[in-house]
Amino acid sequence: MRNVIIMGSGCAGLTAAVYAARANLNPLVIRGVEAGGQLTLTTAVENYPGFPEGVQGPELVELMKKQAETFGTDFLEGNITRVDLSRRPFVVEVEKERIETRTFIIASGASARMLGLESERVLLGKGVSTCATCDGYFFRGKPVVVVGGGDTAMEDALFLTRFATEVSVIHRRDRLRASKIMQDRAQKNEKIRFVWDTVVEDVLDPAKGVVEGVKLKNLKTQAVSEKACDGVFIGIGHRPNTDVFKGQVEMDENGYLITREGARTSIPGVFAAGDVQDHVYRQAVTAAGSGCMAAMDAEKFLEAEE
Ligand code: NDP
Repeated sequence: MRNVIIMGSGCAGLTAAVYAARANLNPLVIRGVEAGGQLTLTTAVENYPGFPEGVQGPELVELMKKQAETFGTDFLEGNITRVDLSRRPFVVEVEKERIETRTFIIASGASARMLGLESERVLLGKGVSTCATCDGYFFRGKPVVVVGGGDTAMEDALFLTRFATEVSVIHRRDRLRASKIMQDRAQKNEKIRFVWDTVVEDVLDPAKGVVEGVKLKNLKTQAVSEKACDGVFIGIGHRPNTDVFKGQVEMDENGYLITREGARTSIPGVFAAGDVQDHVYRQAVTAAGSGCMAAMDAEKFLEAEE
């Protein structure tokens, strides 16, 4: 029987582990399929406090993992396939292994939706990005494209106008899904232009290892064209990793877990941290902060029980 099981090994999960370990709770982190979380998909991180020269995303998570280990965190490779949160102790199944725990911290994150192109995969972190706030700065004085027509795409496009010379929004329809206010802001911005009814067929050039442009296809005319750019921001939404909790933990209509009074979920003893419960801020530092909150809440919960 564990005191705390933490699902996920990104910023939120590892920070929760550091705090829980230092509270002598000997937490167990289930690392998950995307071990290390979204930081492992990025290159330089320049907005995490304490690193004036910046730090590589994968290095930052590795440092957090070491810190969690130093204070007594156990790690288990694998993915949680089933949970039973209907009674305590909670039961967590990692592939075939069944583990019981007194408290459970969900930090399973959200995965950025991708277009599914091989070139996009190869160039991720090399000009292709899923986070404008993180990577926009690297495109100062350069043209970029944003894919998507929702609020994320509009917000990304607006943010990117601070750096880029031109931001082209590539949308597969002729109408945006974004809220009216975001549409208006984006449409009024002189640096933003819209390419309607169009999909990205390929990102160029994976052979060179850098982004040089995109191959576009107009879905109405079938015309194929190329557009030069240095950055491609994929803004087609995120998907919280909460499938395993459907029907057990309260979530909003998009599947994000609902937390209140700190990191508490609808089930006493189950806490949530990071992107799995936050579709607004989604930053490494906010994920880390909420991981700290979840661990402190779990510690208080266990203390109250004794
Ligand atoms: P949405 O699901 O709202 O929008 C996704 C967009 O990407 C849609 O325009 C969709 O096209 C397009 N898209 C999806 N899949 C593909 C694909 N394979 N190829 C090309 N285009 C694709 O996601 P968001 O992340 O924008 O927003 C999620 C939620 O978060 C919303 O409720 C939103 O309001 C909220 N949010 C609010 C913000 C704010 O208020 N500032 C900021 C960010 C998000 P189509 O329209 O054709 O379906």
